[in-house]
Amino acid sequence: MNHRVLAGADRIGGTCIEVTADDGTAVLLDLGMPLYDDTGADFPPRTHERPVRELVAEGIAPDVPGLWADDPSPRYAAIVLTHAHLDHYGLAHHAHPGIPVYASRGTAAMIDVRRVFSPRGARPREVRELPSRGALRIGGLTVTPVPVNHSAPDARALLVEADGESLLYTGDWRAHGRTAVGRRSLLADERLRGLGTLICEGTMLGTDAELHGADDESSVERRLAALCAETDSAVVVLSSGQHPDRVISAFRAAKRAGRQLVLDPYQAYVQERLRPLSRLLPQYDWPGVRVKFVRAHVRALKDAGLMPWVYRVRDAAKLETREFALHPERFLVLARNNTPTMLLLDKLADAADFVYSQAPGASTEVYITVPPAARAVNVGEHYFEFVMLMGGSDSSFVDVTTARLNGTISGLPGSRYVTLRNEGAYVS
Ligand SMILES: [Zn+2]
Repeated sequence: MNHRVLAGADRIGGTCIEVTADDGTAVLLDLGMPLYDDTGADFPPRTHERPVRELVAEGIAPDVPGLWADDPSPRYAAIVLTHAHLDHYGLAHHAHPGIPVYASRGTAAMIDVRRVFSPRGARPREVRELPSRGALRIGGLTVTPVPVNHSAPDARALLVEADGESLLYTGDWRAHGRTAVGRRSLLADERLRGLGTLICEGTMLGTDAELHGADDESSVERRLAALCAETDSAVVVLSSGQHPDRVISAFRAAKRAGRQLVLDPYQAYVQERLRPLSRLLPQYDWPGVRVKFVRAHVRALKDAGLMPWVYRVRDAAKLETREFALHPERFLVLARNNTPTMLLLDKLADAADFVYSQAPGASTEVYITVPPAARAVNVGEHYFEFVMLMGGSDSSFVDVTTARLNGTISGLPGSRYVTLRNEGAYVS
């Protein structure tokens, strides 16, 4: 058995590993879109959708015969994905249609969620499910998925065996998650004893918990609950809805503080798709879960033929803006850094905006702009406070920064910004 790291060895993301058995059977583990170019800058959005030959010519996609759709015949028997992050599957839609793509049930579901919310976006046309137990046999190779904890649902490490040899590719994994699968199971897994080759990725060795005060997911939950208790304003958590541990932490923290968790329809739909996989993920029809409707999400769900589900969500959980604005202290909002979030917070503050920037190692700046029109808004002595808890969609620790902004809106100048200390190290 031989292996080659075709892409991703010298950078984070964009991983692709080839494993070949002595009988010639070859598989690829992940086929990701790189996160950064050679200068460290992000690629423009949708770069992965450009023609693959351009991507190959620019060194963004690996130059491998028999992999891409326009190759005369496929060289690979399968592509096996570890999880549904674009830096691990973002180029898989360019693969030769004769190469089947495999992934866990949760990964396949998250890729399918793109069909609903970005119907024109690129994704592998068909994803076959890996066996939930046991192994996938492909020619002379055996691929055994091993569950790992990560900020993506249902992530897997992949154990590949052939010709009396073995290789484990961890994919991204972490040992401080809610299930702690990474620590307890992966390293203790009997099947990994005497492993020949270990390819380890996405793993943070050493964190600075003293700085950010959270060294595992349960401490994130505790800190969130404490934040909920110490303010009578809304608490907004910026996190991906596809980060299962973080969503569970937010729900549990809200519950402990007597608040309701607010999801948007996209986030609620993600939890719905993962419902068969976890009894911990909060669902729209649970007590304590509300859904704040976003027009664009409803339109996407409608176009996908999912209006019956939308009606069920509306009847069970719809949160009107008015209720939210009148009683922000009753809610913990799971939000993404997008326009609907800004609009919602606008309404909360009557007339305020915020944007934030966050870069590795950089301090975080929060801009609060009160537009000139706000001066005409009769806010009286309306007290404006919100607590923000920021974490990138992929952050393994949520509490990068907390900000407390106090003051009466009428007392604010036309605009100002506050620079905040970045409390925690950046964790990808
Ligand atoms: Zn990942």
